[in-house]
Amino acid sequence: MIGKVLVVGGGVGGMSTALALARRGVQVELADADRHWRAYGAGISVTGLSLRAFADLGILDEVREKGFVGGGIRLRGADGGVIMETPPISAEAPPIARSGGIMRPVLHEIMSRRVREAGVRVTLGAEIADFAQADGGVRVVFPDGRAERFDLVVAADGIFSKTRGALFPEAPRPRFTGQGCWRIVADRPPEVDRAEMWLGGPVKLGFNPVSQGKMYAFILEHVPDNPWYAPEEQLPHVAELLAPYGGYVPAVRDSLGEASLVNYRPLECLMLPAPWHKGRIVMIGDAVHATTPHMASGAGMAVEDGLVLADELARHDDVSEALAGFTARRFERARMVVENSVRIGEIEMAGGNQMDANAMLGDTMQKLQQPY
Ligand SMILES: Cc1cc2nc3c(=O)[nH]c(=O)nc-3n(C[C@H](O)[C@H](O)[C@H](O)COP(=O)(O)OP(=O)(O)OC[C@H]3O[C@@H](n4cnc5c(N)ncnc54)[C@H](O)[C@@H]3O)c2cc1C
Repeated sequence: MIGKVLVVGGGVGGMSTALALARRGVQVELADADRHWRAYGAGISVTGLSLRAFADLGILDEVREKGFVGGGIRLRGADGGVIMETPPISAEAPPIARSGGIMRPVLHEIMSRRVREAGVRVTLGAEIADFAQADGGVRVVFPDGRAERFDLVVAADGIFSKTRGALFPEAPRPRFTGQGCWRIVADRPPEVDRAEMWLGGPVKLGFNPVSQGKMYAFILEHVPDNPWYAPEEQLPHVAELLAPYGGYVPAVRDSLGEASLVNYRPLECLMLPAPWHKGRIVMIGDAVHATTPHMASGAGMAVEDGLVLADELARHDDVSEALAGFTARRFERARMVVENSVRIGEIEMAGGNQMDANAMLGDTMQKLQQPY
């Protein structure tokens, strides 16, 4: 097993890698550019694959306690009437058959605390940009001038990865897909006990519980011109988007305020062709496969990446073989998530057949249940 690893980026992918490697006795340092190591965004949906990965990482109990783990889905019309709901999920159902949600900062707190407890050296305010490969390792110069040699660098530096640009200058850049995603947090009415999709309105609207008392809403809007919204425009815009809906939505709309933690992101995607490594630097997570949220599985995929990478490093004495093995195990799965998510967004934007989109979603989610 490899001796000393630097993980660049402390998002879900980087933290998963750090935990999985530290658990195998590897000396790990994790560097994040943000000196406060913050997590942005309101809530996050967790699908079965994410929950299975959390279980394998040993954090599922805490996710269950501090987030929301349930299962099933309910479809509503724009007036709030229930169109369809799945039967209640059995108490014995394994994580892969479940789903739920959690506040991003809560998931970040759980994972970042576990990383420190695992003995990982955490260096914050350290944007890593100065590295050179030599003699089967990587020499990294940190922003404070410290120079250190690592056997391997894992770049988990997100969709705008600078490592990707440095290693592969010809790599494709993230592509705007035409949709934007709004997320807000609201009090959860007791009736919202699972993920809900609201159909038939002007935007794609969904709610998902993230704790005992809260839920988050996501709104996907077709925004071909990729507009920028000033902070003071954001809540009024969300209120406008929610206006056509009935049921409990007017109460959510009336509650909009600072506590809503409104968050807007234009949707971008990226699929980096293999290889995902060069020498002793390997990239994972959104740095190589950034998806739109149509499968709600990007974070789970990044967590899986960390687990698989640690597994491949343990299985091979030769690091190049381990890194090639990592990409081989991950590439098709990631490609399927990215391409099918983008395709569903395209169907939505074209006002196409929602049944086609649902069939593609169901088929992909079923394939993702296979072992990773
Ligand atoms: C609108 C939206 C909604 C989404 N909803 C869901 C969802 O419901 N469920 C789900 O599973 N997924 C969802 N995703 C996807 C998910 O957020 C990402 O797939 C996931 O966060 C990727 O994790 P990561 O660790 O690869 O990158 P990131 O989470 O982006 O982390 C990158 C980290 O690297 C750090 N960094 C960057 N550059 C450097 C550098 N040079 N040196 C040091 N540190 C650096 C950053 O500070 C950051 O902490 C959504 C995505 C979007 C855009």
